[in-house]
This record gives sequence, C-alpha cells and structure tokens, in this order.
Amino acid sequence: MDKDCFYSIRMRAAVGDRQVSGAERIVTPGKIEAVVQSLVIRARQKKSMPDRIVITIERLGTIPLRMQTALNVVTVNAADVAAGRSAAVKILHSLEVSERATMSAMKRLSAGVGPSGQNLRGAMIIDALTGERLEPDQESGVRASRFDWTDEALNDITRKLETIELTHFRTREALALATKVAHAPCMVAELCWSDDPDYTAGYVASLRTGYVRFPMLKARGDPRGGRAFFVDRKKLDMQALVHYLQIEPMLINETGACGQAMDAEHYFK
Ligand code: AMP
Repeated sequence: MDKDCFYSIRMRAAVGDRQVSGAERIVTPGKIEAVVQSLVIRARQKKSMPDRIVITIERLGTIPLRMQTALNVVTVNAADVAAGRSAAVKILHSLEVSERATMSAMKRLSAGVGPSGQNLRGAMIIDALTGERLEPDQESGVRASRFDWTDEALNDITRKLETIELTHFRTREALALATKVAHAPCMVAELCWSDDPDYTAGYVASLRTGYVRFPMLKARGDPRGGRAFFVDRKKLDMQALVHYLQIEPMLINETGACGQAMDAEHYFK
C-alpha cells in the first residue's frame, strides 16, 4: 500500500482548558471530507457544545505505515470493582509486572494521576520492575496516536464484538490503541480505565494475554481514570518509544479472536 496516499485526521474538543472529546483516523484522501464531518458530529455529541473543536489533517510522511493484527479480546467478569482490580493485578503479576509497579500504578490511577489529582492527557510510562514513572513530561504523559482500522478490519471487528455484546465505539478504539501500544519493543503490559464517569470498564493488555477487558474497574460516577504503560527498562529507549507511540502510523488490517465472557475463576484455571 502506498503510504503517501494516507492522511492522519485528529479531532480534539475542549470546554475551557478541559478536553471533552477526542478521536483520530488514518484515511485515504477521498475519505477526508466525510471523516471530518463524522468527527465534528462526534465532538458535538457531548452534553454541551464544546468551546473549541480542533481538527488536524496531516499527510503521513515518509515513515512506514505498519500493518498489524488486533489483539485477541476476552472479557473477565468480576463481582465488583475490588474483585475486578484484584484480577487485573493477578494478570499483571503473571506478566512479570512487579508488586511494586502494579501498586504504584493502581494507587495513582485511583487517586488521579496529575499533580493536583486531575487526569493526564496521555499515559504514564512505568518501570515494570521498580514502579518508577519514567515519562519525560509527567504533567501530560505520553499519548499514543496515529492508529486506525482498515475499512474491512473495522467491519469485521464491529461484527465480532457485537457477537459478544460489545457495541460501544470505545471498545474498538481502545482495542486499536492497545494493539499499537502492545507492539512497542519494550512494552510489558498496559493497564487502563476510563475517565468518563459513566464508563466503568477497563482492561489489561499485552502481546501475551491479548486485550483482557473488565466491565467494572472503577465505580460509576468516578471521574478519575488513566493509562499505565509498563516497560522493561533494559530494553527501553525513551526517545524511540515516544516516537513509536506518537508518530509512527499503524493500521490494523486483521482482527483477532473475540471470546465469550467468563468469570475470573474460569479465566485463571
Ligand atoms: P479514555 O479511555 O478515553 O477515557 O481515557 C482514559 C485516560 O487514558 C485519559 O484520561 C488519559 O489519561 C489516557 N489516554 C486517553 N487517550 C490516550 C492516548 N491516545 N494515549 C495515551 N493515553 C491516553
């Protein structure tokens, strides 16, 4: 596929200084107008009209466009938030994220990651062994960007996720993000839960486990959320990692398996 024929389109909507909506696509030139319109519609779907909607349209440069297969998806049901978090911790430990690193991330995500307890725009990068935060800008974190599904893969994943009753657009977007993040060379695992007070789901993702979704990783009404990318420091080149996450484009052209939901006991058997 000719990489010069693709554009990155990114939308950010804000009320005052607070981002209320964001999305991005990678498309061929013929789709730009339609995609821009759909992103504006998306930005206006929030309860109140944003003060500002910024759309960036950028031709992908000479950096190769990677093709990737999406992570497999499985849902693990747990009785409540505490049981969900404890299952997430168990999976992180099985991936060799240390107790210290797991607790450091869980504590920060629960309390609000930013200096005054607010959410970060991007993710924390955490040493999977020591739990230290490593990202250069700790007020913003690092954002993963420039990833999308091909039209065929998007249709396919939408259909597969529907068969397991996952119809929310957030799942497709988080799965694409998690697929890009998991393929970073030094990445051990990702932990995420949303900052949307109405959206309680979260996940642990890695190449080894796939995308393990928990319907309840935080209480309804809680506005705190975030992402932790756990890295192997021995393999870490921070500049290369940030470049990979922010700049190098990735399209998902193959979907993985989407398994039926199971409870935590069954998952760990
Ligand atoms: P969301 O899943 O969109 O509710 O996002 C939850 C949290 O993940 C946000 O508060 C950010 O801290 C972080 N986040 C959102 N989008 C990204 C991204 N593209 N890259 C890295 N972190 C992100």
